Amino acid sequence: SKKHKVCIVGSGNWGTTIAKVVAENTAQHADLFEQEVQMWVFQEQYQIPKDSKHFDEKNDKGPQKLTELINGLHENVKYLPGIPLPKNIVANPDLVDAVKDATILVFNLPHQFIAKTCEQLQGKIVPYARGISCIKGVAVSESGCELFSDSIGQKLGIYCGALSGANIATEVAQEKFSETTVAYAPPSQDSQQPTPAGTPGASPKGSQLDLTKLNDGVKGAKSSGKVNLTPLPSEYPSLHHANVKKLFHRPYFHVHLVNDVVGVSLGGALKNIVALGAGFVDGLGWGDNAKAAVMRVGIMEEVKFGKTFFGDSVQTETFTEQSCGVADLITSCSGGRNFRCAKMSVKEGKPIGEIEERELNGQKLQGTSTAYEVNSFLRKVGKEKEFPLFTAVYLILEGKHKPEEIPALLNADA
Ligand code: NAD
Ligand code: 13P
Repeated sequence: SKKHKVCIVGSGNWGTTIAKVVAENTAQHADLFEQEVQMWVFQEQYQIPKDSKHFDEKNDKGPQKLTELINGLHENVKYLPGIPLPKNIVANPDLVDAVKDATILVFNLPHQFIAKTCEQLQGKIVPYARGISCIKGVAVSESGCELFSDSIGQKLGIYCGALSGANIATEVAQEKFSETTVAYAPPSQDSQQPTPAGTPGASPKGSQLDLTKLNDGVKGAKSSGKVNLTPLPSEYPSLHHANVKKLFHRPYFHVHLVNDVVGVSLGGALKNIVALGAGFVDGLGWGDNAKAAVMRVGIMEEVKFGKTFFGDSVQTETFTEQSCGVADLITSCSGGRNFRCAKMSVKEGKPIGEIEERELNGQKLQGTSTAYEVNSFLRKVGKEKEFPLFTAVYLILEGKHKPEEIPALLNADA
């Protein structure tokens, strides 16, 4: 029988951390997975900084290819410095070569780059591959608001689940305890084992919302035109929940499997907008009550967004009970990059893009673009006012309102 070959598509702060988690597990579960994990790296030249333990003044070679640094030092010196990586991770700058023969593709890159990456992958992957999206964001286009798990699945003709949770990458990389939620619910052929009792379940259907079909009162997710799945050949271990769990679960990284792909994807995307709002009020020095108020409204808007636009395919409990919901909201509003950069931008009176450039060394904020994308969608469907926090964050980013106006914007009808 064959083993699953895994490729991580992406190698940023979280991409590299998930590669570490997965590589530890492929080494441990050699009956299921090939040990080597390919990690696609968007190639760049990188100069090891003088304060790095890897900097050697006498033998300094100047800027070098990031892949060569990662493979030589077993560390992603740019995006996850200071964390030793398992030696079975192979950094590969060639996307098509990295995914060759991979039966499991883990998508983990900033959401603005996924569309182009998928285009490059079309026709280059094995037809029976399965995907997991770790991306926090939504794809908004003329035709609607789409989840990345769905858009990846459709573009590549594969099934794609989602992984999301309260997971600040550096903490996970340092093996500090956290939990995550994995949603995986492919058509039954992959899951020869029943899903565990008690897991919140939702329709495994695709869930793009088609704007052209949206009328007031029309609720529910539209099937995204079901992908005609190529069955996983029987020589491979089946990808039921227990085996998917073995790919991600670690003693320090606890995985809960659910079927609600929509809820898991939306929680991760929308909390980034809330984290900006929390950063704005914290930047004003307004204290914990103000931040808690933003978080309360935020989780309500997350649930409402899911229920309004994706109907029964999303479960409220995913937001209120799972790591990908309330827990991610809390951690992101405490120490996430969106929160920290929004706070600094208010304190220093500088645009958040400038702070992002200065503070993140090439890492990308997801909340700013998500706030614009969600707003453009809400505007199109005439529902901006029903999501006052999401709208307020957008208006502040646009410079049309000030953070001080958040209370008034949240209470517009009073
Ligand atoms: P990151 O913020 O570290 O972004 C840097 C990555 O983007 C690098 O790998 C870089 O090579 C890549 N990149 C830059 N330009 C590119 C291009 N043109 N094409 C392709 N790639 C390009 O990325 P990340 O932290 O790994 O985030 C990936 C996803 O994971 C995001 O959706 C994020 O919200 C989510 N996430 C992040 C964290 C975290 O703490 N960092 C935690 C959980 C989830
Ligand atoms: P930031 O992208 O705001 O750092 O959030 C990280 C995250 O998703 C934590 O779960």
